[in-house]
Amino acid sequence: MKLIIAEKPELGRAIGAALNLSPAAGGTMTGSEYTVVWAFGHLMELEEPEKLDSKYKKWNLADLPMYFDPWPSVAIDGKADRLAQIGQLIQQADSIIHAGDPDDEGQYLIDEILDHFHNTKPVLRVFINDNTPSEIQKAFYQLQPNENFRSIGEAAHARALCDKTFGYNYSRFFGLTLNVKGLSVGRVQTPTLGLVVNRDRQIENHVKQKYFELTASAVLSGAAINLTFKPDKQFLNDGGHITDRAFFASVIADIPAPASVHVTKQQKKEAPPLPFNLVKLQAYMNEKYNLSVSRTLEITQELRDKFHAITYNRSDCQYLNAEQYDAAPQLLQGIMRRLGIQLSLDYSIHSKCFNDANVTAHHAIIPTNAQFDLSALSDEQQKVYIEIAKRYLVQFLPPIALEETKADAEVPAKGSFQAASIRILERGFSAYYPAKSFKAAALSDVPAGNYSVQLGNYRIAEKFTAPPKRYTQATLIMDMTQVAKYVTDPQAKAALQAKDKDKKGENGSIGTPATRDSIIETLIKRGYIQDDGKHLVSTQYGRQFYDLLPDDIKKPDLTALWWTIQEDIKSGNAQISDMTNSVLASIRKHLQDDYSAVHVDHAADREEIGKCPLCGKPVYETKLSFACSGYKNGCKFAIWKENGFFKHFGKKVTKAAAKTLLGPYHRCLERNLTSKAGKKYDAYFKMTIQNGRPQFSIEFPNKKKTTTKRNFRSFR
Ligand SMILES: [Zn+2]
Repeated sequence: MKLIIAEKPELGRAIGAALNLSPAAGGTMTGSEYTVVWAFGHLMELEEPEKLDSKYKKWNLADLPMYFDPWPSVAIDGKADRLAQIGQLIQQADSIIHAGDPDDEGQYLIDEILDHFHNTKPVLRVFINDNTPSEIQKAFYQLQPNENFRSIGEAAHARALCDKTFGYNYSRFFGLTLNVKGLSVGRVQTPTLGLVVNRDRQIENHVKQKYFELTASAVLSGAAINLTFKPDKQFLNDGGHITDRAFFASVIADIPAPASVHVTKQQKKEAPPLPFNLVKLQAYMNEKYNLSVSRTLEITQELRDKFHAITYNRSDCQYLNAEQYDAAPQLLQGIMRRLGIQLSLDYSIHSKCFNDANVTAHHAIIPTNAQFDLSALSDEQQKVYIEIAKRYLVQFLPPIALEETKADAEVPAKGSFQAASIRILERGFSAYYPAKSFKAAALSDVPAGNYSVQLGNYRIAEKFTAPPKRYTQATLIMDMTQVAKYVTDPQAKAALQAKDKDKKGENGSIGTPATRDSIIETLIKRGYIQDDGKHLVSTQYGRQFYDLLPDDIKKPDLTALWWTIQEDIKSGNAQISDMTNSVLASIRKHLQDDYSAVHVDHAADREEIGKCPLCGKPVYETKLSFACSGYKNGCKFAIWKENGFFKHFGKKVTKAAAKTLLGPYHRCLERNLTSKAGKKYDAYFKMTIQNGRPQFSIEFPNKKKTTTKRNFRSFR
């Protein structure tokens, strides 16, 4: 028996169908020659250090750097049965066909299983880019010895080892030296925090700069046209602006009279946007429905697991294969029926999304022909499914036909007055699907040609530069796919870009489509950034921490450096140990760094309730109390929310009460107290400090002064 091990169920079943295998026991498919079994993505992971050596259960600086050579892998929780089953099948097999995805993770994932069972049977490698039967059959005619590709998997193995080593050692080192719980450092996580911190600072440090803009108007063929002056490049400052008003005065003086205005027209087409990959879908759903990027990922997983409604969801690719083009008419008829819409799709339109050359290990996310009822989906599932389906449907609608009209009037040696207007000739797909809006100006009515006219109505307007926008979840994951643009080191920048040279849509990225959402979630959970529902903003704590980290730990350049070593591993010019040793060397060096003078905590982000009456340090709210932040210096002052005195009156210490208790009068007004006789009354609870603890007594408002309610209010 030849055993085929596929990376995922979808691929396994597609192979089974293409090779005419029948479903067999235990979630496999089998025939006279082949048996196919599939993994569920990674079945194994590196074992946790504390399980390999119990000394790591305790956090201890002396135990760093932590590293294991060799570092054993174990079954991921819930996947041990499948792993054991594959192990048995390997024993029964005469030979094995490795059907991991055609990328380094796919190579590693199956090699890891083979190594785990010390496989000695011959292994061939099959590369399947497209799950259609004909493509799979073709791929099986081109099997190659798996040995030739081992080094590609080793590159992925090296990255897994380094990520674990890096994150584990630095998280412990900084947590221990800074004495802060819940700190973490990661190769992708930390530069992502940097994106947010740097953006926030740009916004906060932005100094509004005044600049000027010159406009004029002209009447062309009966239409009044407004033109804006575009100075020649050499006159502009770094921000692309004119800050000297006198420059425009000199332009006005030089305007020829009459001026020659050149009007041109050009026909343009605006094609529908490409089908979604995961990151584009996450960004779209975040912008349109405010769904978090992790929620969108979850929903796509549900759509796949429960309904088989969409193709592979963690894809980084927005392109599709020729087979999918052929299958579209039948598929989309069914989709339109399900969505209850009827569009006249034109299947002769060959969208640029159909391009085999741009398909990587996966293709774009599109709906499948699975049968299910739309009403079986939850509201959120429907939203995501419908957006994926619509984005695919529009590939077969015509582009928007546009006519762009431009006007240009030169002022010699200074620049030119310009105007532009775009008119929609045919709405194309935008009649059905949201698209960029175009609003035609009067210029669109002006025929092309040269006009000799008088310019007039010169106006020099004062403008101000605006800061960049805060990140949203959508814009942050998009920037993670193109982080190279913020990298200043030219070598690192080039390496990051080279890493993504085969991936359309990713240009110098960090992280993967499958992990970016959890990176953002981690940053929020750690308290480094906050999501206020609309924007992501770094906390003071996040900034303090980011600032103290050395550059070689926090910059995206590290991903570039690792990638260059990974390339050497793939080509056989480096070993896994070259990469892990370089990471360990850098960790050893940083373990000597002295952070005794720096201080990091959440305090800066917390609301100060008041000052401690004992030591003067700020008091903050905790889960159970309002406590002095000087506890590290031995101050134990705290007001418990469930204070006994308050409880006696049926009250709790609220935040408002704590604030006035820490105010100048050390008392708070409590209303609607009930006397033994059942009468309602108001009273002050007065705080005094005895033996370092707050004690309370009741104080009645001065009768004379407080007989009216108005006077009461003034104490609030
Ligand atoms: Zn204190």
